[in-house]
Amino acid sequence: MLTGGGGNTAVVVGTAGVVVVDTKNPGWGRPILDTIKTLTPKPITTIINTHTHGDHTGSNQFFPASVDIIVQENTAANMARMDAFKGDNAKFLPKRTYKDKTSIGAGKDQIDLYYFGRVHTDGDTFVVFPALRTMHMGDLFPWKDAPFLDRSNGGSGVAMPQTLDNALKGIKNVDTIVGGHQPLVQWKDLQEYQRFNADLLAAVQAAKKAGKSVDEAATSINLTTKYAGYESARTKAAIQAIYDELDKK
Ligand SMILES: [Zn+2]
Repeated sequence: MLTGGGGNTAVVVGTAGVVVVDTKNPGWGRPILDTIKTLTPKPITTIINTHTHGDHTGSNQFFPASVDIIVQENTAANMARMDAFKGDNAKFLPKRTYKDKTSIGAGKDQIDLYYFGRVHTDGDTFVVFPALRTMHMGDLFPWKDAPFLDRSNGGSGVAMPQTLDNALKGIKNVDTIVGGHQPLVQWKDLQEYQRFNADLLAAVQAAKKAGKSVDEAATSINLTTKYAGYESARTKAAIQAIYDELDKK
């Protein structure tokens, strides 16, 4: 895991080359490449972007256009709408996409990509490295706080608990998790994060049903006592996004 400069990057050295998951903000290609050179002389063959945001796709352009870029198909559509990939830079858009599941590599090089539904956007990939019992979740699990629900890119707080539950049931044999913007976490932390989001959604739905405003709901909803180590800096924004989604705004 390479920290700094935006979202956490995962680097996996395989038999034939290096796979990079997420490329941070613009300007971070050189630091990523320099770090990889301290690990291996092998070439970078593949980039996987967990989702569309510029702090996870920002340095795609630094790498040769021959590098294979793979994303979930909704993320490909979201990226194509970004200014960063317009005009000449369209050549750095992903050429390979998948819908629900795909695998690349074989044996100990195998990497599994899963899409389980809308969360942070409508195209977030769970990237699983079976031989390492590790997965990169990007902003499917960015921090221990309320999620950032990017409704302009199809994010959904209403779908989120179910999507995470789908992943808990559909992914096996993972111990260690790379999240978008936090230190390494474990499978049990993801189980807890799913429960946190289910509780958050239920509390927001109840507050809305009781006629509370977003401000009133933000004052009354506090999950940090039940969930030790969790922050509430992002609770109000998540409540607003869920209210808007329920109102179909
Ligand atoms: Zn993001």
